[in-house]
Amino acid sequence: MNGSPAHPRRRTAPRHPDAPPTAPPRRPPATRAVLGAILDHGPVARSAVARLTGLSPASVTGHCGHLLARGLIREAAATSGPRGLGRPHIPLEIDTERHVVAGAHIAVRHTTLSLMDLRGRIVAEDREPHRGTAPDQVLDRLAARLPALVSGHAADRTVLALGVATGHRVDPRTGVIVDHPQLGWRNVPARDVLATATGLPVHVDGHARALARAEQLIGESSSRTSAVLLFVGTVVDAAFATGGLVHLGPHSGAGSVAHLPVGGRDPAPGAERNEGPTPAEGSPERCACGAPDCLQAQVSEPALVRRAARRGLSVPDFPALLERALRGDPVACAVFVDRARRVGRAAALLLDMFDPDVLVVVEPASGRLPECLAALRAEVKRRSWAGEAAATAVVPSSFTGSVLAVAGAAVALGALYADPLGAGAAPPSRFTTADST
Ligand SMILES: [Zn+2]
Repeated sequence: MNGSPAHPRRRTAPRHPDAPPTAPPRRPPATRAVLGAILDHGPVARSAVARLTGLSPASVTGHCGHLLARGLIREAAATSGPRGLGRPHIPLEIDTERHVVAGAHIAVRHTTLSLMDLRGRIVAEDREPHRGTAPDQVLDRLAARLPALVSGHAADRTVLALGVATGHRVDPRTGVIVDHPQLGWRNVPARDVLATATGLPVHVDGHARALARAEQLIGESSSRTSAVLLFVGTVVDAAFATGGLVHLGPHSGAGSVAHLPVGGRDPAPGAERNEGPTPAEGSPERCACGAPDCLQAQVSEPALVRRAARRGLSVPDFPALLERALRGDPVACAVFVDRARRVGRAAALLLDMFDPDVLVVVEPASGRLPECLAALRAEVKRRSWAGEAAATAVVPSSFTGSVLAVAGAAVALGALYADPLGAGAAPPSRFTTADST
């Protein structure tokens, strides 16, 4: 050791006085690990669960006992041991017969109700346009529709919880939709209102975080290690997940990318010329915030419908435009390819910022039209420092075609898998049919 004077130890920077206290990181409880292993690998023997989780066989047997008693897992058909000798192995699997979770996704123009089994399969879904967009109208109508969906599709099962997902700023800790400018909602206590109306435990979160959690739980396995999810609908937002958790942030604001500036027409560094959107493909859409080049203003569904109209294709709404593109209409296809390039600019920035294993794009054309995914990946390759590696990290959603049904239910499923024996996993008093007395 040399005799240089010791530097004063660096102190932790003082917290911003407005920042709420941050909870210390928690180790995932063992029951969660056991249930997660059974979801990923079931039907699976207890001995394999012990190996997968690092828990002792006795501990696994104990946790499985609790999960069996709750009806979250079941014993699958027994298989004999080697050569039919010894005790039969009785593998365990997720029980999909006794319970479902319910989901509600609140979009700008409609709501989607859904029921999902505990392996993440959508059992039923029902979309309805808003009759009015006042919070009470929307939430009351959601609650009123749920019993018919349950009796029609899952009358023999118990609804464990209701998950609610929407865009913009949502605080899952308080269950409050903090700010949804396009609906004009501020500080709407969705959890409390819906818990009272339905009698169910209710969990509320942003739809990008909900879909990132869904990818981790029941989607592509490549998203397990780390993933950025970019949601492109009427609302545009994002989520970042790593280590089995989705980052929330002290203000529940992680993933707000609506105002990411992506509209500039300067060439990418090193590019011979700008091969991005040309002026003819779209006049700038000025954002509500006043800036000319915000991501949401450029790529949202209403902006796309207007861009198509400027190119001579008038359609009543976004689903009609998508339908035209899927049927091969050249103008509709070109509009979606143009959007894919713009989304690619944002994707490249997010890939460079987070360097995730995958970037999941939730955008209906990228999941269905190969030329859109190719255009998006080409833009990413051109703009990201990681080039080709970044482009191949871009994948479409695992839930193309059922994204909104999955988003709401995934909030409830995520809560269940995070705390399998918690209060939210206990059969509630209402909507109980099979187990009711
Ligand atoms: Zn903006």
